[in-house]
Amino acid sequence: MSLTPDQQAEIDAARAHSNTTRRATVAGLEARLYEAVPCLDHGFVRVVDYMGDDAAITQAARVSYGRGTKAVSNDEGLIRYLMRHWHSTPFEMCEIKLHVKLPVFVARQWIRHRTANVNEYSARYSVLDREFYIPAPEQLAAQSTQNNQGRGEILEGEEAQRVLDVLRQDATTAYDHYEDMLSQDGQKGLARELARMNLPANIYTQWYWKTDLHNLFHFLRLRADSHAQYEIRVYAEAMCDIVRDWVPLAYGAFEEYRLGGVQLSRTGMDVVRRMLAGEAVTQETSGLSAREWRELQEVLDAKNR
Ligand SMILES: Cc1cc2nc3c(=O)[nH]c(=O)nc-3n(C[C@H](O)[C@H](O)[C@H](O)COP(=O)(O)OP(=O)(O)OC[C@H]3O[C@@H](n4cnc5c(N)ncnc54)[C@H](O)[C@@H]3O)c2cc1C
Repeated sequence: MSLTPDQQAEIDAARAHSNTTRRATVAGLEARLYEAVPCLDHGFVRVVDYMGDDAAITQAARVSYGRGTKAVSNDEGLIRYLMRHWHSTPFEMCEIKLHVKLPVFVARQWIRHRTANVNEYSARYSVLDREFYIPAPEQLAAQSTQNNQGRGEILEGEEAQRVLDVLRQDATTAYDHYEDMLSQDGQKGLARELARMNLPANIYTQWYWKTDLHNLFHFLRLRADSHAQYEIRVYAEAMCDIVRDWVPLAYGAFEEYRLGGVQLSRTGMDVVRRMLAGEAVTQETSGLSAREWRELQEVLDAKNR
């Protein structure tokens, strides 16, 4: 991650300043506020602001006048009940604003989550930095043979080196041309809004991203999942750590019922009941498609615990 000395000084200055407030604050998140958590080779995610805590969730669920209940165990039980039964609006009472620096191809996946407020760095107004995501060697993998949307074996030796060289060389050439086109040295210079169009999708962009806890959990369930692309998963996992420090009770319920839990279809449930009754169910007798059967086996396989 590359923060310039000026950017780090801005963060240090913001962290040195404190406000007093009657609003709820969370010590675990206050400790993190403004600090950048490195993601990939040049990216980061950092908390810029937040509203609410675990008590805000129970307070809203009960529509109470004060700050939740006295007993943490009551709050924890209620939060787990709300999560278990898919109640959403109490979790929407908590909000978080993040500053994220990420490669454009990751941003394209991220922006599909529409239930957030976004403001992106303007490449019409400013010149983009010469920063490109180059995967670590252990992330350079071949197309998966089982999953059309995934990676398989790691590339090795000469092939891996060639791929890395191509990625670096193309990024360098594209950025050199970007600078050449922008330059006003002996020429008019192309507008920034046009010159950017030859930049590759591994260049970094930045945005402010604000969302509520319900929609953040939805994002994390999809993007911290092993089926999500590694590059966005790195950010989601960093965000999971942030959320754990912010709303530990809600995060615990999320881990239990969403990240660690599964949803079974009616036929899937029926298969499990038949297995528990001692029947040797096969894919052919299950009523499930081959893919559904494989997915159920993955869920039931003790190795995947
Ligand atoms: C592993 C993986 C693979 C994917 N592959 C592809 C792909 O190949 N191609 C592709 O195009 N996308 C793909 N996606 C993106 C995916 O289809 C969703 O667009 C993305 O995950 C955002 O989900 P969402 O719409 O539920 O989230 P949000 O946009 O945050 O919405 C949250 C919820 O709000 C509601 N909502 C939001 N906006 C509306 C609306 N306008 N109308 C009605 N309800 C709304 C919906 O209930 C929605 O679930 C993939 C996602 C994942 C995780």
